[in-house]
Amino acid sequence: MVLNLIFLGPPGAGKGTVAQAVMDKYKLVQVSTGDLLRAEIASGSELGKKLAEVMNAGQLVSDDLVSEMLLKDLTKKASNPDFNGVIFDGFPRTQSQASMLENILLGINQKLNAVIYIESSKESVVKRLSSRWTCEKCKKVYNTVSLPPKSEGICDDDGGNLIQRDDDKPETISKRYDTFIEKTSPLIDYYKSKGILYKYDGNVPPVDSIKAAEEIIRRIVKE
Ligand code: AMP
Repeated sequence: MVLNLIFLGPPGAGKGTVAQAVMDKYKLVQVSTGDLLRAEIASGSELGKKLAEVMNAGQLVSDDLVSEMLLKDLTKKASNPDFNGVIFDGFPRTQSQASMLENILLGINQKLNAVIYIESSKESVVKRLSSRWTCEKCKKVYNTVSLPPKSEGICDDDGGNLIQRDDDKPETISKRYDTFIEKTSPLIDYYKSKGILYKYDGNVPPVDSIKAAEEIIRRIVKE
């Protein structure tokens, strides 16, 4: 069965970590608009410089730009003969992006199966993000408190350097949370009204969050 899922939640709720954990099991690919935007910044382009300003201020990048990047990445991934579904991590973030996603999925003959909302308080995301480190090469995410690498500063999987994101500074984290509440949280009710919203308490350690998400995915697959 092809499974297309959205992981919804504030920054630091654990969307990326949980996506990485369940992807292999269900043979899904992850599409993270945040990763796509950071790749553009890393390329050193003029566009990347503008994006960095917006992102480091904790604001959202324009709907059109993000949707265009997503469409390109998704079309490539969905054309793989082994395509078995996708986890959208960090997209959609506005009502307009949700509508764009519906059209994009229609265009590649796919439908959205479920939206998993990872509920998290501002206090717990600030705590979590300030100890988040990411592998420079493979983007695997570590938490120096709850999910540390085997050797400090080095990725367990490929030996890449672990780096901290520029937008994981406390004042930016707080602003990003507020942006989520203002712009993205209306999507919770939107997907609820469509009958495809599942949610769990994400104010827990990563292992428990992964278990809760897996439990929901098992239920979705059975339905
Ligand atoms: P993330 O890695 O998902 O936390 O995204 C990091 C930053 O990238 C966000 O704070 C936004 O500035 C930007 N961003 C990522 N995804 C989107 C999106 N779907 N729409 C608008 N901006 C986004």
